[in-house]
Amino acid sequence: MVTINEALEIIYNSVTKKSTHIIPIEQSIGSVSAQSYQASFDLPRFDNSAMDGYAVKLTDAGKAVNIKEVIYAGDRPQEHLHHDEAIKIMTGAPIPKGCEAIVPIEDVEFLTQQSIILPPTINPNAMIRWQGEDIKSGKTFMNAHEKITAYSLALLSSQGITHIEVYRKPKVVIFSTGEELKAHYEKIDTHQLYNSNAPMFYARAKELGCDVSYISNSGDTTEELKKAVSHAMDADLILTSGGVSVGDKDFTIQAFSELGMETLFSKVNIKPGKPTTFGKLGKCFVINLPGNPLAAMVNFEMFVKPSILKLTGTNSFYHPLITTKMRNDYKFKAGKYAVILGKWNGDSFEPLSNQKPGMVSPLEQADGMIVTTKEIDHLNKNQEVKMIPIKFEIQSSKKEDFFIKG
Ligand code: AMP
Ligand code: MG
Repeated sequence: MVTINEALEIIYNSVTKKSTHIIPIEQSIGSVSAQSYQASFDLPRFDNSAMDGYAVKLTDAGKAVNIKEVIYAGDRPQEHLHHDEAIKIMTGAPIPKGCEAIVPIEDVEFLTQQSIILPPTINPNAMIRWQGEDIKSGKTFMNAHEKITAYSLALLSSQGITHIEVYRKPKVVIFSTGEELKAHYEKIDTHQLYNSNAPMFYARAKELGCDVSYISNSGDTTEELKKAVSHAMDADLILTSGGVSVGDKDFTIQAFSELGMETLFSKVNIKPGKPTTFGKLGKCFVINLPGNPLAAMVNFEMFVKPSILKLTGTNSFYHPLITTKMRNDYKFKAGKYAVILGKWNGDSFEPLSNQKPGMVSPLEQADGMIVTTKEIDHLNKNQEVKMIPIKFEIQSSKKEDFFIKG
């Protein structure tokens, strides 16, 4: 048996990223960059106007000037501004030579259609966006090992980059074990139970950026289990649920061992989920999770998630921590390294009142988990705790005032 930290260390040290390929940027969302990218030109490419307004000389402040012409965004910069005149200019249009500031349209007074009075004070360089003030040519604007987001696409396309090199998505194959299980689309008998782990693993692995396949539930014999494994051998990571504890029909580990799996750890000092096993079969990593749904979910978040993240090529594969506080006092049994699921409202952590390893209902309610050490048996109200978030997309059903007031 290993500690939680030892198990994580084994994962961090043994799981390696996949090979790379080059794909159109539109298809790269959620993938991880394999290269850093440098700007090949300044952004903006030229000095341009930040407002619809007039290009002016500072000494013309407060004076009436003639409107010379209009420069639109997309025009080539070729105008030249002289004293006693203003060149009308639109947002994004190149600044004409001789221009010392832009005065917004709403700040001038119209005398005629062709002449305006400028405001009495004009700040030098007002409303001018400078060449390279956003991104300087040569600057690294994207690093290797970063996850590509919609905002990365904005950067890449602003530099005219159409294709990028990313790590291939990890291939995850999932199967569950247990004669008692039926797929959720099948008819069920009173002594049977729906397979809720496989759809959960499938969706979560997809959320984490994997290509996922589900192969059907395996019966509880080593022969059937081995057959299931034979259908999963093209995976980078095989995930199984069930059949890993000490029951009479728990043959998952035996089947993988007989096929030659090298065990990297077996059993973790964690509650729930002690039987979790991690190994390697050929080039494929294997994580055998317990069948109990809550235990399966907790061990997925604790061990499968960092394994998947390492495979994706990201450098950010450690558990992120949110420092928060306990909403109320909380008592529990000492002697275990226990994972407690709870709700987090942005301010404090509240353990779910009902959480047992075999339950399904707590999974959807949990925003995060905290891990206690074996010496303690309670947490006090307002005590600081570190929470591992489970849900990233934080939304609120409560309308709140978000303004910061002086
Ligand atoms: P096992 O680890 O196979 O001994 O299973 C422990 C408990 O989890 C049993 O009550 C199983 O019926 C249940 N279980 C196992 N696999 C699943 C699954 N895929 N979905 C829901 N419950 C499961
Ligand atoms: Mg079973």
